[in-house]
Amino acid sequence: MTSLKMGVRAPPTTAVCPNCRSEMAVTQVMPILFTDGLESVTYKCRECRSELTRTFQSPGSKPADLPMT
Ligand SMILES: [Zn+2]
Repeated sequence: MTSLKMGVRAPPTTAVCPNCRSEMAVTQVMPILFTDGLESVTYKCRECRSELTRTFQSPGSKPADLPMT
């Protein structure tokens, strides 16, 4: 089972475009394989349509805090 807690820091759903300073929206969120709860988040600009990929620590994971089974 998973327990979700309120107040954890999730990846921001918007970003500022480095090209035109417009608002970018998330188009894709993908977990990165073989890493400890890292997620790759892709943003796309509404104005100039450029894309930006950022990596975040997934709020649902707690590395080194869970007992191995
Ligand atoms: Zn832009």
